[in-house]
Amino acid sequence: MTLPSSPNPDLLLAGTSIFIDGRFAPAVSGETREVHCPATGEQVALVSEAGEADSLRAIAAARKAFDSGVWSSVQAPQRGSFLLQVAAKLTERKEEFALAETLDTGKRIIESRIDMDDIIACFEYFGKLAGQDAGRLVDAGDANVLSRIAYEPVGVAAMITPWNYPLLQAAWKIAPALAAGCSFVLKPAELTPSTAILMMDVLRELGLPDGVANLVTGAGAKAGAVLSEHPDVDLVSFTGGLITGRKIAAAAAGTVKKVALELGGKNPNVIFADADFDAAVDNALNAAFVHSGQVCSAGARLVVEESIAEKFVDALVSRAEKITLGGPFDENAETGALISAAHLAKVDAYVQAGIAEGARVRCGGRPATEDDGAGLGAGHFYLPTVIDQVTSGMSVAQDEAFGPTVTVETFRTEDEAVAIANDTVYGLAGAVWSQDAGRAQRVAGRLRHGTIWINDYHPYLPQAEWGGFGQSGVGRELGPTGLGEYQEAKHIYQNLDPQVTGWFAEK
Ligand code: NAD
Repeated sequence: MTLPSSPNPDLLLAGTSIFIDGRFAPAVSGETREVHCPATGEQVALVSEAGEADSLRAIAAARKAFDSGVWSSVQAPQRGSFLLQVAAKLTERKEEFALAETLDTGKRIIESRIDMDDIIACFEYFGKLAGQDAGRLVDAGDANVLSRIAYEPVGVAAMITPWNYPLLQAAWKIAPALAAGCSFVLKPAELTPSTAILMMDVLRELGLPDGVANLVTGAGAKAGAVLSEHPDVDLVSFTGGLITGRKIAAAAAGTVKKVALELGGKNPNVIFADADFDAAVDNALNAAFVHSGQVCSAGARLVVEESIAEKFVDALVSRAEKITLGGPFDENAETGALISAAHLAKVDAYVQAGIAEGARVRCGGRPATEDDGAGLGAGHFYLPTVIDQVTSGMSVAQDEAFGPTVTVETFRTEDEAVAIANDTVYGLAGAVWSQDAGRAQRVAGRLRHGTIWINDYHPYLPQAEWGGFGQSGVGRELGPTGLGEYQEAKHIYQNLDPQVTGWFAEK
């Protein structure tokens, strides 16, 4: 398979992708990194490999821009109008962005187009939200006091993002940060930097003042670590794995900066016997295998009522075996490759650990080869995998595989279903399937996860908060709370009739 060439060779193949103070530049070290498409292995970009020196320059530029007021003192409705212009420009350049995302991630082009629609909707949402809340008056209980709460930008935000939805995860941070009046430094995942580079081009083209948006493309340990530690960064907003999240929280503690963490999940998909069977099976497939399970909210832990479990799992396996894997431009493909050889090895090790613990692989359970489909041998493809005979204590029931795997546990009572679904250190998302609306609502209320779907899986809304309970994270993205992450609440108390207090006697 040959890929279409880079959508914007000047930006994506020039090795000058670091964007600081309004200009693209190479890394201080001169180092570069090749980006390869996970579905074919072909090189699709050549980017600067930022190190600590580049991140320090980016932080300094963001700090200077913030302190100058060049963006932070622009009125909020004007900032909102700018975000709407970003949405319009992304709509204009949608195909170019979708192609870049697909080449970096290996995901099907149709999925990248959907991601772009979601990204545009995110900028539109925060564009309209900016300036809607001018703060609030506080009743001080004294007619001579004017007391109010003002929402101010938190300052310089560092944004560290993952490779599964590269620009979408960045958009959830960039849009509210700009709406709030912050400056920022973005460090995208080193495997998928291209759409972040194009995004800087859009912000520059639309005239965002220099230094407000900055980009360092490089590895986490070198370019990323300093962002969490640095005293000139006021907030670090991270989306990624739990282990990295812990490191970032620890590094941020040294300067007591605000921390927002969107981490992994082991998300239960709970199926009661009275669910609409066909809809539940079909959606269980989507829950587990969309984007080959590389979704933080993937329904990778099926919890099924015992009376229907055998029939349900048989139907699921039969459908999973027929999923067509393929490259980004293969029109028959239903899902694509894993991000890297290292990640594929991690997913396989997870499955093998389950087998060693006594779980049973019902289908898949290995990397795909050319025998499974032409072209699959060239990329990092893994067969959709269903694992049953699983109990809560097993590592496959507890660990996030972040691949095309789903485990099956069974329950007899509602209490047991809730106990299994909550038996995790995570708490990102989950679903309940039942035609008994009362039960569905009751169980949804008892699940300790940040998003619960009833009789559905995966939809999210830019106007609804997203985030995790437990070790799935700290804080919320999207919705009004997602804007609040980038704001500080300030209390301004004005005495309209100052008097001598007499607290200390005049002597
Ligand atoms: P990761 O933690 O390996 O990397 C994420 C980012 O952190 C990358 O940009 C990486 O370079 C950077 N990084 C790594 N070490 C760092 C360090 N010491 N200091 C600063 N930055 C560092 O995660 P990943 O493999 O890219 O993404 C997969 C994970 O992301 C999964 O666990 C998934 O569940 C999670 N995720 C969560 C959400 C959510 O909304 N909760 C969304 C998408 C992905």
